[in-house]
Amino acid sequence: MADYYELLGVSRSASPEEIKKAYRKRARELHPDANPNDSVAEEKFKQVAKAYETLSDPEARTRYDRFGEQGAAGGPNLGDMFNGGGLGDIFDAFFGGQGGPFGGRGGPSGPPRGQDLEVVADVAFEQAVFGATVPINVRTAVRCDDCGGSGAAEGTQPVTCSECNGRGQVQRVRQSLLGQMVTTSACPKCNGLGQVIASPCPTCKGEGRNITEKTYQVDIPAGVDTGSTLRLTGRGAAGPRGGGAGDLYVHIRVAAHERFTREGDDLIALLPVSIAQAALGTKFAMPTLDGEEEVVVPPGTQPGKEFVLRQRGVPRLQGRGRGDLRIVVKVEVPTKLTDAETELLRKFAEGRGETVTNEHGLFSRIKSAFS
Ligand code: ZN
Repeated sequence: MADYYELLGVSRSASPEEIKKAYRKRARELHPDANPNDSVAEEKFKQVAKAYETLSDPEARTRYDRFGEQGAAGGPNLGDMFNGGGLGDIFDAFFGGQGGPFGGRGGPSGPPRGQDLEVVADVAFEQAVFGATVPINVRTAVRCDDCGGSGAAEGTQPVTCSECNGRGQVQRVRQSLLGQMVTTSACPKCNGLGQVIASPCPTCKGEGRNITEKTYQVDIPAGVDTGSTLRLTGRGAAGPRGGGAGDLYVHIRVAAHERFTREGDDLIALLPVSIAQAALGTKFAMPTLDGEEEVVVPPGTQPGKEFVLRQRGVPRLQGRGRGDLRIVVKVEVPTKLTDAETELLRKFAEGRGETVTNEHGLFSRIKSAFS
């Protein structure tokens, strides 16, 4: 794509007012309504709009001035940056597409984006269920305050690389079976940045960023579980020389709860009841995450019976509403009985004609059990 300033027909030192005026004039001329079915004008109209979008934004304009179109767009990742070569070069070789230093494939690709970071966040059970804001500490790279990320010492500027004339790429011409081949690769002197730093910033040694410990307050959405991952765009490490920041991935690990376990969005709680309570029925004040709720255990309740309290589970991370709280009955058989209790149970068994061990630990009436 052509130079943004040329597209708008203004000088590189044009004021924001001049840029705005020039854009309006060009846009009127090229507007599709004024040029029906003119695909060339339409393409030009789009380019002019893109140029204005960049040059009207002071930050984007600075990036464009320093790093060209790719830099203004935010910069590609390291991989893209250093893999110079590819189909485009072969076409260039055939069609002789290379003009001066600024012809052909556009400017340097801009500084690389910073690394993505990953951390594990330990959150309490209730925090995962209801959401919370938790501090997350990361060791990361942040833009250098002293040089604003440029890497150049105070009062100096990065200068255009003399090796590649700011293109960030160098070309080598060699003879091959196909004829003359032009190969393009990242400039070795400026690492593809198009600019070099004569006097590096003493704080960051020219990197434009510094390693530091940082604490982010991270919003944990209600309903996350162990294995959930949050992606915080732009909270990763800052790129070198003013490159964009990577992302921060927060892997959630939820602590166990003493009373509840999770099954998706449902909470499971065990309700221990005695054999008498299971047989005769009872009521409990059941602690839930929302306070106590009455649970009625009817007479004759069996082990494993489930009572469901609707909407008392975990809020659904995707979608509305909440899961349920499922209360599972666990009938506990007493292990230590007083003599009086033993006597009562024995009478109970006798009344129902059931065989139980006698007081000496021997089986009584064993014949009847098999008869
Ligand atoms: Zn610095």
